[in-house]
Formats: sequence, structure tokens, C-alpha cells
Amino acid sequence: MTKRVVLIGHPVAHSLSAAMQQAAFDHLGIDAAYELWDRPPAELAEAIAELRGDEFLGANITIPHKERVVPLVDRQTEEAHATGAVNTLTKEGKKLVGHNTDVAGFKVALDKLVGRQKMPRYAVVLGAGGGARAVVHSLVHEGFQRVIVFNRHLHRGEQLVKHFGRSAAHMDLRAMPWHESIIEAELSKAKVLINATSIGLADDTSPIPAEILTPDLFVLDLIYKPTRLLRDAASAGCATSDGETMLLHQGAAAFTLWTGQPAPVEVMHEAFRVARDGGVTSAEGEPGVNVAAV
Ligand code: NDP
Repeated sequence: MTKRVVLIGHPVAHSLSAAMQQAAFDHLGIDAAYELWDRPPAELAEAIAELRGDEFLGANITIPHKERVVPLVDRQTEEAHATGAVNTLTKEGKKLVGHNTDVAGFKVALDKLVGRQKMPRYAVVLGAGGGARAVVHSLVHEGFQRVIVFNRHLHRGEQLVKHFGRSAAHMDLRAMPWHESIIEAELSKAKVLINATSIGLADDTSPIPAEILTPDLFVLDLIYKPTRLLRDAASAGCATSDGETMLLHQGAAAFTLWTGQPAPVEVMHEAFRVARDGGVTSAEGEPGVNVAAV
């Protein structure tokens, strides 16, 4: 029986994850198909219930369901629980286990960006959704001393900070209102800037003006393409990285959870490149532009 793994999001028209995961299954001769399920929030519970069937190995969960899926699983890993967001489901019999492999993916991406330099201690995070939660969890555990979260809707940033409450008690984790002058003041002191909003995904806009970027910043955009923010940052003299490494490594970790086998990371990376160069712009649900066959 061909096993099934699904990506549940809304929308999930075209996906870099599908290209990566199917290439990995095929490369290792695993009889499994990676499917895209576009399910609006009202249909999420029904879709999750369907995964209890024997043919399913598990699932990826994406925009906008990563936080909403939490109460629908039978068990969460400690990491998923601490993060408050789930991006991968595995099975224990008919039971569903929620994981968060974005955390591991982000850590690989940050380590690669910082390279041999000492890991900084002060970060500014733009965004407070599921991706931002994985970022903040990682930064807290990486030993950052000050992390400031800016979000369009301040209350969501405040909820995020509240969620981390005790685990971040030793450090300064705060949500601040999205005002350019406040972002500028924080950025002048920070060493790391993470964009975990979806600004720049569908169009060529940046969440912040180029003028407030300082040259000694490490800038990581979770979006997997050279966004305007990254181009502005590179022009300002910053070290930059897009979301490709994070996507690849969260996917590799999910693959291992489903199959018990080491992920063929190079094969997945090549499939990612081919799909992206063919015009697929989304791993996460937003419809791609110039859609390629995946
Ligand atoms: P969510 O839907 O959970 O959160 C979206 C975030 O973007 C919120 O903070 C939201 O703010 C903000 N936002 C959206 N539109 C605007 C806007 N017009 N102005 C200001 N803020 C806006 O999504 P995720 O957290 O899951 O994903 C966020 C981004 O990160 C996406 O681009 C996604 O592709 C990327 N990502 C990449 C990963 C990777 O592996 N590389 C992994 C996870 C995410 P508000 O709360 O105010 O609406």
C-alpha cells in the first residue's frame, strides 16, 4: 500500500516542500506520496481526523494552521509544547504526535549565517506567527539575552511573549508596537534581525525602510528568496541569508520522523532548487507565481 503524507494549509496551491519530500521518498525507494490538502480553518479538524487512517505516515502543517492544530493532536513533543506551534505530525498507531521541526531548521540557518563569529545575544524579530514562535524558541535556547518582537497586531506579539513566560524568565523578551522609530532604536543596538512576517513573499516589499539597517547586522529572512529586505541589507553591508536552509532542514527532520531514515539532504536540496528555479515560490501555501509542475 502506498503510504500518504500530506501538507495541510490554506491555500496550498504549489509547494517547494512537495518537490523536496517526494524526491526524498523516490530516491530511497519508499512507496509514499506527498499530497497537498488545501483546508480552510473550518475543515481542519476533519482533515486531522482523517490522518488517523493506517495509510497515513504523517503530515506537515502550514500557514495558517500551525497554532490551531495544537489542540487537535493526542500528544506533543516537549519542543512543540514549548513553542506553541506544530508543523509536523507523526503517528503512534492511530494517535497523532505534534512536532516542531522549524526550530531545528532555524537553528541550522542561524548557525550557518553567524559562521565562526561569536553567537550574538541581542535580536529583533519581525512577526509573531507560527514561524516567529519557532524563531523565538530557538533564540531563547541559544542563550540570547534580549529579544524584541515587533508585530503588526501588538496583541499577538504579547501573546507570544506570554507563552514563553517562564522559559524566558532569565532574559529580556518583549513585544513592542510596530513603529518605525522604535524598530530603528532597537535595531541600532541589536546584532540579529529576523523577518518572520510574510511581507515580501507575494510582492517585492520590505517590512522596514533600508535606511534603518546598520552594517554590522546579521539579517535572516524566513522567506526563501532574495527579498527586498535581504537586498537592502546586503547593500547596507549586513551578512544575509534567506529561508532556504531553514526550509531544507525542517523538511529533512520531518522526513526522518516519518520514515526513521536519514534524509537525503542533497537530493532534497536539488529538488528545491529545480522547483524554485521553475517558478515555485512557496513552501507554505501561498500560490506560486509562474507555477511549475511539481
Ligand atoms: P503566520 O500566518 O502564522 O504569521 C504571519 C505573520 O506575518 C504575522 O506576524 C503577521 O502579522 C505578519 N504579516 C502578514 N502580512 C502582514 C502585513 N501586510 N503587514 C505586517 N505584518 C504582516 O505565518 P508563519 O509564521 O507560518 O509564516 C510567516 C513567514 O515565514 C511566511 O513568509 C512563511 O513562508 C515563512 N516561513 C518560512 C519557513 C522556512 O522554513 N523557511 C518556516 C516557517 C515560516 P499579524 O499577526 O499582525 O497578522
